[in-house]
Amino acid sequence: MIPATAISTLKGLLDRHDRFVLLSHVNPDGDSIGSSLALYNYLHDPGREVTVITPNDLPAFLKWLPGAEDIIVGKYKPEEAASRIAAAEVFFFLDFNEPGRLKKLESTVNGNRDAYRVLIDHHPSPVIEAGLVISDTSVSSTAELLYSVLKSLDATSILRSPVAVNLYAGIMTDTGCFRYNASHSATWEAVADLMRAGIDINDIYSRIYDNYSEHRMRLMGFALDKKMVILPEKHTGYIWLTREELERYGYVPGDTEGFVNLPLSVENIRFSALFLELGDKIKISFRSKGTFAVNRFSSAYFNGGGHHNAAGGECTMTMEETLKKFESLLEDYAHEI
Ligand code: 5GP
Ligand code: MN
Repeated sequence: MIPATAISTLKGLLDRHDRFVLLSHVNPDGDSIGSSLALYNYLHDPGREVTVITPNDLPAFLKWLPGAEDIIVGKYKPEEAASRIAAAEVFFFLDFNEPGRLKKLESTVNGNRDAYRVLIDHHPSPVIEAGLVISDTSVSSTAELLYSVLKSLDATSILRSPVAVNLYAGIMTDTGCFRYNASHSATWEAVADLMRAGIDINDIYSRIYDNYSEHRMRLMGFALDKKMVILPEKHTGYIWLTREELERYGYVPGDTEGFVNLPLSVENIRFSALFLELGDKIKISFRSKGTFAVNRFSSAYFNGGGHHNAAGGECTMTMEETLKKFESLLEDYAHEI
């Protein structure tokens, strides 16, 4: 349940202001894009200037979502992003809990101290300063939380297809097609409600998951055959891919989506990781089943964070050193995994 005070604050903001900037985190995923675009379509009105801004590009499999063509990618259009941010009267922070997830946009956003800030998120312990914080770690996704917010604001809003498609895409992707964090009946009730908008859930699934390049499928085959390390006594599995290997398979952002989950399908594996040599860093994803808190592990050793069972981080050492550090930490943590 969204507190009535939060809804009345939001109503006041929507009545009083015209310029809204909706901010998504770096390497945006289906939940951050689905949430941003659902809110974008909800707010869209000739009398308003509503802008969705992402720090870097979104993966190709999300670019068909209604409204995606209007997103401003900070990395490609820094001046336009900066001018919209400077002119904003209200910021929405969607699907992230730390300002650093805005990367270079963080200082631009901090430059506008006058805008009212609203946080809508499902990550633990948010440290983003905001006038209105709608934060709930028990929901499957930010999209599900936003569904409740929009429904409270205007019950008919979620029956508009561009809103419903984006909310559904956010919930579907963040739960890995309802495999993780989808054990509350409220998630399924939200989905049933969204289906009343007439959305085609098979089509949404297909556009997101049956839309990969041949290269990506072959990269997955290579990763599973040659680059997956299984450590049965540590209940851990990981995949690592160098820059050269990614380039060999024509890597584009989004191609490794879901790879981190693959080792978890091996019997008795409860902790998995994916190491990618990207830019001048090793980008890392962590997943676990059960009690092992990967967000704590990631923030303690890999400058990251996230959820209890799904987190990410990074490392500035070489791949070899990063893997060595990871394997030596496993010695210390084996009893917890
Ligand atoms: P993924 O592994 O899919 O990139 O991210 C899984 C979860 O961890 C997401 O909730 C995401 O927001 C969070 N996450 C991923 N990378 C980072 C990071 O570098 N820092 C922090 N704080 N969270 C991250
Ligand atoms: Mn999310």
